[in-house]
Amino acid sequence: MKADPADQRLMLDIADADAELHRIEHRRSTLPEIAELAQLEEQLNTQRDEAVRAQIAAEDLLRESRRIDNEITSMTMREEKDNQQLAAGSLPAKQLSELSHEVTGLIRRRGLLEDELLDVMEQQEAVDADEQRASAMTNHTQRQIDEVTARRDAALEKIDQDAANVSEKRAAILTNVNADLMAIYEKQVKAGRVGAGLLRAARCGACRMELDRGLLSRINSTPTDEVVRCDECGAILVRTHESGLASS
Ligand SMILES: [Zn+2]
Repeated sequence: MKADPADQRLMLDIADADAELHRIEHRRSTLPEIAELAQLEEQLNTQRDEAVRAQIAAEDLLRESRRIDNEITSMTMREEKDNQQLAAGSLPAKQLSELSHEVTGLIRRRGLLEDELLDVMEQQEAVDADEQRASAMTNHTQRQIDEVTARRDAALEKIDQDAANVSEKRAAILTNVNADLMAIYEKQVKAGRVGAGLLRAARCGACRMELDRGLLSRINSTPTDEVVRCDECGAILVRTHESGLASS
């Protein structure tokens, strides 16, 4: 196949633009902010779980303290009633003695419940501190997430801009490109290969393989308007003055 050497050289510009676009997309998928955000989200989930656990513990303790409180109140009321009957002194001696015994028992049990209540209150203080700490930590992580998200979005915006610039440049080159050369190029790209490469220092610019002497001398004697392809990767092998060939 024949093509004007200038048209062949344009394929290098297309290949450069595509390589640049490839690098830009690589930048997009490997932004450090993506990994950073994933790690922070995981951290936030753990901290939220901790906050929920502390909240449940606080609710349990509140129920427990109310229960003890109610028991103490009812005991106090019974004590008062018994004390009033004792003070009235109108009961027979045996009943008075039983009543006095009951009051002693009530006071002892109330004392135990009051100790229990103090214990629960201490636990409540500890759980309150846990809740506050968990809440402060989730807030802190959320602020970090907001900050990293803003950084990621700014980076993505820059990447979008860069990609748009290169695409625009590529589209401009494309208007002047030889359709037959482009068909070869696109077939290469579809097969996951580089479409065109500069022949320089006896190497294919697309696959970096060194060309053997036989092929080199064959290329050397091929007219410049004849399209040569790399034996190794199939890329359009573009010859310029940089190729170090006698014919160009
Ligand atoms: Zn090659």
